[in-house]
Amino acid sequence: MKKQIVAGPATRTFDFFIQWHLTERCNLRCRHCYQNSKKPAEMSNSEVKQEIDGVREMFTDWEKEYNIILSPSINFTGGEPFLYEGLWDVIAHARRR
Ligand code: SF4
Repeated sequence: MKKQIVAGPATRTFDFFIQWHLTERCNLRCRHCYQNSKKPAEMSNSEVKQEIDGVREMFTDWEKEYNIILSPSINFTGGEPFLYEGLWDVIAHARRR
């Protein structure tokens, strides 16, 4: 299939929302909680930052490919995200990207 070439500046903006579960650990035990008792390994700070960089690159590629502007946001959650060591560090990194 022939690729469509889009000319001119991008004018269409799209929100893109990411919900990122940094940890499944939690200090509470809510009855309605869907987190199970299994505790999968968590990504390290450097791994999370690397993935954030990868997502940013993917967005940049999409913007070029489809001639659009993306307005991304990330919601860091869990579990209890405040139990994730280095939370502020990854938030600061995401804000820079
Ligand atoms: S993860 Fe949320 S819903 Fe589950 S026990 Fe913790 S606070 Fe409650």
